[in-house]
Amino acid sequence: MDSYQHILLAVDYSEHGDTVARKAKALASKYQAKLSMIHVLDNIPMPDTTYGTVIPMDKDSGYDLLEAEKARLMQIGDQLGVAQANRWLVWGAPKQEIVRIAEQEQVDLIVVGSHGRHGLALLLGSTANGVLHYAKCDVMAVRLQDG
Ligand code: AMP
Repeated sequence: MDSYQHILLAVDYSEHGDTVARKAKALASKYQAKLSMIHVLDNIPMPDTTYGTVIPMDKDSGYDLLEAEKARLMQIGDQLGVAQANRWLVWGAPKQEIVRIAEQEQVDLIVVGSHGRHGLALLLGSTANGVLHYAKCDVMAVRLQDG
């Protein structure tokens, strides 16, 4: 691949998030690519709403927990200069949803963080491994320092 047109940054709000975000932003600038971002909600209960698993960013859900998640994504999106329409907040399993949105939005590079894992954690698999396994496009795993 000589160049990328659409880069998707997977954001997990962890302490290492900045490192991954900076790489994605630098690549988007280098290739003059569109930059999108996604956060997948896998640890809060899904409220009973009329919309599906993709949460509209421009409407108040009336659900505090969800609005807090949205505000975090908005803050990171503002810092990175990601257009409002390219910010995705989705319910589900991170690896599956990241790949699903990447395909839907014709992303050609997904950027995720990757921890050096050993033993059981390695066997159970990481988000980066899962994304790499299922994605049809290129995946960049940004090595994160553990501990
Ligand atoms: P993990 O394998 O869960 O430690 O996560 C490694 C990387 O996967 C993170 O640095 C993010 O890029 C991505 N990731 C993990 N969880 C999520 C999530 N809930 N939503 C979006 N991206 C995620």
